[in-house]
Parts: sequence; C-alpha cells; structure tokens
Amino acid sequence: MLQQTRVDQAAPYYHRFLERFPTIESLAQADRHDVLMAWEGLGYYSRARNLQDAARQISDSHEGVFPDTYDAIIALKGIGPYTAAAVSSIAFGLPHAVVDGNVIRVISRLFGIRDDVSKNGTKNEIQQIANLLLDQKRPGDFNQAVMELGATVCTPKNPVCMMCPVSTNCVAFRTAETDSLPYKAPKKKVPHHQIVVGVCRDEENNMLIALRPEDMMLGGLWEFPGGKVEKGETKEQALVRELREELGVMVSVAEKITEIKHAYSHFKITLSAYECRIEPDQPEPKPRASKVIKWIQPQELKDYPFPKANRKLTELLIR
Ligand code: SF4
Repeated sequence: MLQQTRVDQAAPYYHRFLERFPTIESLAQADRHDVLMAWEGLGYYSRARNLQDAARQISDSHEGVFPDTYDAIIALKGIGPYTAAAVSSIAFGLPHAVVDGNVIRVISRLFGIRDDVSKNGTKNEIQQIANLLLDQKRPGDFNQAVMELGATVCTPKNPVCMMCPVSTNCVAFRTAETDSLPYKAPKKKVPHHQIVVGVCRDEENNMLIALRPEDMMLGGLWEFPGGKVEKGETKEQALVRELREELGVMVSVAEKITEIKHAYSHFKITLSAYECRIEPDQPEPKPRASKVIKWIQPQELKDYPFPKANRKLTELLIR
C-alpha cells in the first residue's frame, strides 16, 4: 500500500484491509471483486491484484507461510528488487541492500555521482555501491539507517549537512553540489487524453456498466462504457463509435452529465459523461471489449469497485 501512497493516506485502508482479510489464506481465497472493493480509493490497482496473487502463490507453494529466502520472496507476484531486499534484510537478516529514492539521494551525493539517476545504468551503479557498503551482520539496520538518513537529514531540499554523520566523506558537501545532486533529466510533458463515457439506462432505470479485463490497466474494476476521443472527432461522435465497438449497439447521445479531471502516474484525463439512449431497433448490448456487462440500479453502484474518475460519476448518479 505504501508504494506511491503516503502513510497517513494508506493507514485507514491498511487497518480495514487487515480486518477484512486477516490471514494470507483468507486473502488467497477471497473473491477478486471483494479485494478490489477493499482497495478502492488507493489507486494503482495492479498492487491489489498482485498482493492477492502473491497470497495465492504462498498458499499453493509455501504451505501458507511467507517464504524466508530472497529468491522465493522476489518470485512472488508484485515484488521487485526493492521490496525483496527490504523484506529479506529487515524480516530475515539477509544481506541484500535496499535502493529506494532516499538511498539514491544519499549515495549520489556521498560519491558525487553526476549521471542521470533515472537511467537504469546509474541505478545499477548505485545498487553496486550499496551492496559494497552493506553491513553484512546487520543488513536490516543498515538499510533502515540509510533510508532514514535520506528521509530526515539528507533531504531533497536543504539537507542538514552540519548534522550529518558522513559529511567528512561526502563529495556533494565538499564541492557544494547538494542542490544539483542527484541529477534527473527534465521530465517529458505528461500526455492528456479526452475520455467520453455513456450512461445507458433501460425503462426500469437500470444503468449499464462493464467489467474491465484483468490484463488491462485498472483490470477487474467496473466502468461506464466509452473510450478516448480520437483526432478529428467530436466527443459525441467518439461516444457513438466507442459504444458501437464495445457493445455492438447504436446509441444517441443526450445531455452531458459532468466533466471530471483525473491524473494517473503517466497521463492525465478529462472524462466527459453523457446520458445515452440505445436506439429502439438495436439488439441486446454485448460485452465486446469488456469481460462482462451488467444492468444495475443506481443505488447498487456503491457495491462495485470503480476507478476514481468513474467513482466520482457514480456519486453524482446515486444522489
Ligand atoms: S553531508 Fe549533506 S549531502 Fe552529504 S550525505 Fe550528508 S546530508 Fe547528504
């Protein structure tokens, strides 16, 4: 939960999640829908899916007990070198050096590394230095100490070098480069996508929602059908095309419901939602792009996990 999310934001989710799934076994056996419901609001839903897949791996291959070797830990779904090193060193005392943003900052300043730290080659160099520095007898304490040094003393802005226990060996301190290290090449502009979604209703006021396939971004979450507005299209034209492609039906676009802005890690969206009517002579809609479609009552929307922008829309529709 703490990947990409602050402690104060994650804490209530953490407690609720543990109450709902108190053991590895209960998480492994849970319905995917319930896991995603418990995660809803935290974003980056692949973490929730990976967590459950890892619980299932532990249940199937490790008799339900969390493994205690680096190789077995890193083989779990969703666990990369950082988490594997942190867990294996802190929980099991294994000699693996952690490299996170704090460690990258400390080591690049300490050793005067001026290459772009967002490049894999630079990260590998920093990993090798961290491996050499690691205290083999107390790897967990060492890792936590370096991360803590980065979080509290060697901070991104105004590091407290006068209080720093390694200042006498620090290149950036000696050469007054603490402002320019670590070096990161300027980021490219984040792309923006205009998204349109349609709220189709039947005579009983049921609304049509669709389940995103597991292997897609936001997989396993529900949404209102729709998609990206392509170049040269109006929003209304895009919506008619998307619903024809996704559901196999022709719709007419009625009034606009709302416009919602949302930022993901690598792009931003503006989601425009419209009331839509399926034309009278059309066949039953089919899930052509999604896993399943469902007609549900507005008050049932709260029982289904939705991505954030869609959730804002459901809140308007439930009122
Ligand atoms: S001396 Fe300053 S720049 Fe160097 S590691 Fe310590 S806090 Fe960071």
